[in-house]
Amino acid sequence: MSSVAVPVADSPAPVLRAASTVVHKFGGTSVADAERYRHVAQLLLARDDAVQVTVVSAMKGVTDALIGLAGLAADDAPQWRDDWHALRARHRGAAVALLGEHAGPTVEWLDARFAQLADVLGALAVIGELPAEVLDRVQGLGEVYSAHLLGHYLQGLGEDCAVLDARDVLVVDRGELGVDVDWVQSAQRLATWRQAHPQRRVVATGFVARDRRDRITTLGRNGSDYSGAIFAALFNAGELHIWTDVDGVLSADPRVVPEAVQLEALSYDEACELAYFGAKVVHPQTMSPAIERGLPIIIRNTFNPDHPGTRITADRTVAGPIKGLTLSPDLAVLNLEGTGLIGVPGTAERVFAALRNAHVSVVMISQGSSEHSICCVVRQAEALRARDALLQAFAHELGLGQVQRVQLTDNVSVLAAVGDGMAGQPGVAARLFESLGRAQVNILAIAQGSSERNISVAVDSRHATKALRAAHAGFWLSPQTFSVGVIGPGNVGAALLDQLQAAQAHLLGRAKVDLRLRAVASRSRMLLDQRGVHGDWRAALAGPSQPTDLEAFTAHLLSAHLPHALIIDCSGSADVADRYAGWLAAGIHVVTPNKQAGAGPLPRYTAIREAAAASGARFRYEATVGAGLPVITTLRDLVDTGDEVLAIDGIFSGTLAWLFNMYDGQVPFSQLVAQARGMGYTEPDPRDDLSGVDVARKLVILAREAGRELSLEHVQVESLVPEVLRQASVEDFMGGLDAVDAVFAERLAQARARGAVLRYVARLSDAGAQVGLVELPATHAFANLRLTDNVVQFTTRRYCENPLVVQGPGAGPEVTAAGVFADVLRVAVGEGARL
Ligand code: ADP
Ligand code: ASP
Ligand code: MG
Repeated sequence: MSSVAVPVADSPAPVLRAASTVVHKFGGTSVADAERYRHVAQLLLARDDAVQVTVVSAMKGVTDALIGLAGLAADDAPQWRDDWHALRARHRGAAVALLGEHAGPTVEWLDARFAQLADVLGALAVIGELPAEVLDRVQGLGEVYSAHLLGHYLQGLGEDCAVLDARDVLVVDRGELGVDVDWVQSAQRLATWRQAHPQRRVVATGFVARDRRDRITTLGRNGSDYSGAIFAALFNAGELHIWTDVDGVLSADPRVVPEAVQLEALSYDEACELAYFGAKVVHPQTMSPAIERGLPIIIRNTFNPDHPGTRITADRTVAGPIKGLTLSPDLAVLNLEGTGLIGVPGTAERVFAALRNAHVSVVMISQGSSEHSICCVVRQAEALRARDALLQAFAHELGLGQVQRVQLTDNVSVLAAVGDGMAGQPGVAARLFESLGRAQVNILAIAQGSSERNISVAVDSRHATKALRAAHAGFWLSPQTFSVGVIGPGNVGAALLDQLQAAQAHLLGRAKVDLRLRAVASRSRMLLDQRGVHGDWRAALAGPSQPTDLEAFTAHLLSAHLPHALIIDCSGSADVADRYAGWLAAGIHVVTPNKQAGAGPLPRYTAIREAAAASGARFRYEATVGAGLPVITTLRDLVDTGDEVLAIDGIFSGTLAWLFNMYDGQVPFSQLVAQARGMGYTEPDPRDDLSGVDVARKLVILAREAGRELSLEHVQVESLVPEVLRQASVEDFMGGLDAVDAVFAERLAQARARGAVLRYVARLSDAGAQVGLVELPATHAFANLRLTDNVVQFTTRRYCENPLVVQGPGAGPEVTAAGVFADVLRVAVGEGARL
């Protein structure tokens, strides 16, 4: 039989250890019902621990139910009786399901406990209040029931097993800083208990204990983990296994960050920080008995027992700058500000003394080096008390104006990034702040401990989820996730949606970019999807969608609390372009092949640019010129690197390029237009191409990128549409176009006579902006293009003798969509994706 260790209060780790004593702790999630108890028993029986101590929580939800019962009874709400019946039925049911025909004694035992509980609740109803001592006594009963259920079950299987009620042995002190164990008394009581119960297997209650005055108490919510560690120390165990419902400690709370990754190993220090700052998977005080003894803690999954779980030991495995991130909600920031504080010694001390006297615990502290203000984060529940304490403590200074204000900001969460690896490594804080900045999360206060194991930032709770996800992605623990909405699933939009869906898996796996398509809007209908549209978006849009409402569309994109939001506008609509500035100001990136913004009214264009500059959100529209060709990107690179654009020339219309490449006088011009239309090379109304306005728009876009304030009305445009046909219907136009055949034949003949060809060209230079049909020498670069190729030629100070040329297919939904997609990926890279 193992000995019981009798550690003295702050004794060093005992040298002798019964290595084969293992303490297992099962949380409520592992013992939700009879089926789970059976599973737990199997797990335990399959092990050959020489001594096996199993600490159990209450069945899932039972602690909450007991607290609820006590509250209801104290309020004398009749409901408590029904709830009491339900809770007893749940336990009786579990006993019968577990023990079958041998359940009798256990059910009797349970009935007796529940009868006692009913007496206590009845008394509460009479006195009409809920004393803390009674609440403590009631809320820990679930563990008592649970330990007996498992113990009786193991005994029923013929196992040599004792049930240990921790209230009989564990003596603790509940102070302001948590719960301290009276090791000496506890060990003595356990030794006595052990003499009477020398069994190899022990099932013990978690959570409950007694205080030094012998009153029943608890170790605080989630305290069974701590019970596990305390019993591991008292039994001098070699290991503590904490069994729960996840594969170990994860890099973040999986309910907030589903992509959180499992951590193989953590140091005690890391686990302490994570637990203290809210990682619910292990109670913060669990580490202290383990640290003193060098006891390994292994967090494991009852539902996946073959998984090795997370090992928490003294070893520091420095992997990555940070291991995990946590969020603590329900906090407030308290700020004391005053010029009279500068250089005055003892101010911080007075702040903390005042808070301590008001029994306010301080979660986080930060002070600027100017000493102009001291800021601390406190629990929301204690916030008003804390503020009043400071107002009182500094009343004198406030009166004299040496302290200007004591300010309280409610609704705050603290995001903590934890890892031993950040010590001595520059740039970790920068990475955190950058991720938060990009996700448009405002930081209220910052603190970094000098251990450099934790950086904490206080943020508005409304942004907390987004902040956690952004930071998680920023540290490469999960993909950079974008909440994506597409407007206008027409030709280009549809091709883009197809390309996006086809690339998604690859981007996620290789580049860690998650472009989550959450909204698609056509002119009339829109589809909003919480989790992301997978599979056939066409069918989904045709299915139960709703009328398009771009306000709701935008709100939906932002509602997911994903770090980034992106709208891809594939409509040609000016109304949609009117919204860009608002979107950008709200931090939503905008990518578009729609020329309305780039070439439309200058004030709108300027507002868009300014909104993007102010918020940091990106506005990209590469596909507005030359479809997928890198025209705007090239121009931006030239300008950004300090080059000066002297002239831009080019053929910007695939349709007009094709028409004049083909036009050799054999086939009349009007017939070529009809052919082009038949092959889908033109807009449905070919006048949109022939008028030259589209080309002029592209020239405006390039001119603005090159730094000129050009508008459409400044461009001289030669329209190829005869005056008389401008107002006609499309059919009348097509029918009447042969009237111009002779004119074109004549212009071609004249050009040929001069050894030249006809091309529809755009030109921006010091002489202004023109778009029209010109004669070019047959040897000119523009004279020898293929089919619908576009060409753009930049003459700059650097590329002066020999201009820089971008050339290639410049039309078609596929290549245009690819251009849009490339912009989307550039946005992703800008947000930290590794492509
Ligand atoms: P138990 O009943 O086993 O004690 P808890 O609900 O107390 O279980 O704790 C486990 C839960 O903690 C997990 O289901 C998970 O949702 C949550 N959790 C929060 N943060 C983390 C984290 N960083 N790693 C793992 N789990 C976490
Ligand atoms: N049952 C207790 C609670 O719910 C203790 C625990 O499960 O750790 O807080
Ligand atoms: Mg727990």
